Amino acid sequence: MFTHLHCHFLGSYSDSLLDPDRDLARVKDMGQEAIAITDHGVIDYCYPFYQACRRVGLHPVLGCEVYFVDDARRSIEANDSYRTHLILLARDNRGFENLVKLVNRSWLDNNFGETRGLVDWNLLEEFHEGLIALSACFWGSLPQKYITGGMDAAEKEFAKYYDIFGGDFYPELGRHGIDDEEKANEGLIAISKRFGVTPVVTNDSHYPRERDWRFHDIIIKTRFGYATDFELDVRNYYLKSEDEMRDLGFPAEYYDMATEIAQRCRVDREVFSPDLGDERFDPEGIVVFSSKQVIIDAYQALKDVTGAWKIRGRGLQEIIDSLPRGMDIAQALRESPPLVGWLEENPRVREAADRLVGIPRRLQPDFSTVIDLPFEKIREVIPVRRARGEIMAAYPPAVLKELGLPLKSVDSLSGTAPGFSAWVKQLTMMDEAREKYDDRDFTSASILLEGIIKANPDDLEARFLLAEAFYFLKRYGQAVAQYEFLEENNYNPWRMPRLLTRKGWAYSWLKETEEARKSFERAIALKDNYAPPRYALGVLDYRQGRYRKAIESFKIFIALRPEGKQADKARGLIRRMGG
Ligand SMILES: [Zn+2]
Ligand SMILES: [Zn+2]
Repeated sequence: MFTHLHCHFLGSYSDSLLDPDRDLARVKDMGQEAIAITDHGVIDYCYPFYQACRRVGLHPVLGCEVYFVDDARRSIEANDSYRTHLILLARDNRGFENLVKLVNRSWLDNNFGETRGLVDWNLLEEFHEGLIALSACFWGSLPQKYITGGMDAAEKEFAKYYDIFGGDFYPELGRHGIDDEEKANEGLIAISKRFGVTPVVTNDSHYPRERDWRFHDIIIKTRFGYATDFELDVRNYYLKSEDEMRDLGFPAEYYDMATEIAQRCRVDREVFSPDLGDERFDPEGIVVFSSKQVIIDAYQALKDVTGAWKIRGRGLQEIIDSLPRGMDIAQALRESPPLVGWLEENPRVREAADRLVGIPRRLQPDFSTVIDLPFEKIREVIPVRRARGEIMAAYPPAVLKELGLPLKSVDSLSGTAPGFSAWVKQLTMMDEAREKYDDRDFTSASILLEGIIKANPDDLEARFLLAEAFYFLKRYGQAVAQYEFLEENNYNPWRMPRLLTRKGWAYSWLKETEEARKSFERAIALKDNYAPPRYALGVLDYRQGRYRKAIESFKIFIALRPEGKQADKARGLIRRMGG
């Protein structure tokens, strides 16, 4: 008997294809009796997963692979993106309740630039009761401590986990073919013997079958909204059968430990329907919006597949761009006769696009609906997350409804709370502007954004987007004015290196070379390992004939970002300058 305790489902947005409704029956068919959900940093899909397990007769284990640092405040203040992974599994109802509280605090109090919530020793200390911890994949803090600091450092790290979790902390072994993974395994096995614990074998699972790696590859390549050359060097992240797992060659008891842990984890369905109390939402207090999913449609899927696979065909871009949004492939084929011919010639693209349609890319706040409960209550019992500057309930919309959470439409509040309604209207307009912007309709976006800023001159998010829209419209003077305003008003320090780089480019288009140089240099001073201003400075110096300095900048750029069009261009220019 073997049990997968490390599985990423759809809540690991843009990093997993595993769908509880579609893929769990196969796990049962493979002869496994239990399985865990451990999405990256979120627990959005625990409920659908739980229900789907029950339907197919699997024992569900609820958990999360959290982003872990020693001290979240310190990481955030230093803008230090280093983090490790840690698997937490709910042993009982209390454990799941604590998991909700812990993950919520990570997003609300330890929010790292809205990209992730951070868990640290303090949070583990406070909410570990009822939780079992596994050291996670190769990027867990225990294996990383061993790889970078040797046995002494790893032992100290183990002792810290042991202090909190006691016998409920397990070193996790895997064999995916990652460099140094075997070294980590050796260290973890040695440490387990020294402390008298049994390690557990897992497989970091992100897609159902081996051959699905290529679909997973597309969604991770296009996770930022455009295609990159990012590639995982191993293709083992699928749900393996017990035989395939045993073939990895670890001692039998390390496999059995996975099933033993799963059997110890028992959470009741009731945990999803907590007592919500009688208090209701207050427009004066902190608001929690409901959420909506951004789902891959036919347009997006075709864009992603052809982008990731670098497929270009005559008129192809026009065919894709002309597709109405929100359709699946069958509907898109009915809408667009040219697409029919093209996909018939490219069945691989059709297959991949079909596979991607329907996968959620992310959750975002739905500003038309609020959760009709006080924030202090919600925070304790429902997963929440910060997104677009606001707080949203992080269950997919269907789950919120199914669990009977009280919702209230914003429209129904316009009579009683006009200030609140006006504020939400601004948020909604901002959403529309973002949509136009994402569709590269910069003219419409800029008109909406100017309206928002007129009503609220301090809306820095709107100003940032407006600056970017002006930049793409080649209205560089106006773009610079917005960038300057943002700088003077201490806009988001996270975005400052990007902002300064863009401002520098705007200045360089305006032929204000010295201002451009100052901007690029300030971007570098803020973030030494940020590549774009290095390239920009190289181009600037190249154009001015300062070849030695240009070569220097390009070389640093290539070291920081060795792949992609700009790196190729930088190499070409270095050669041309004789460097
Ligand atoms: Zn991991
Ligand atoms: Zn993982």
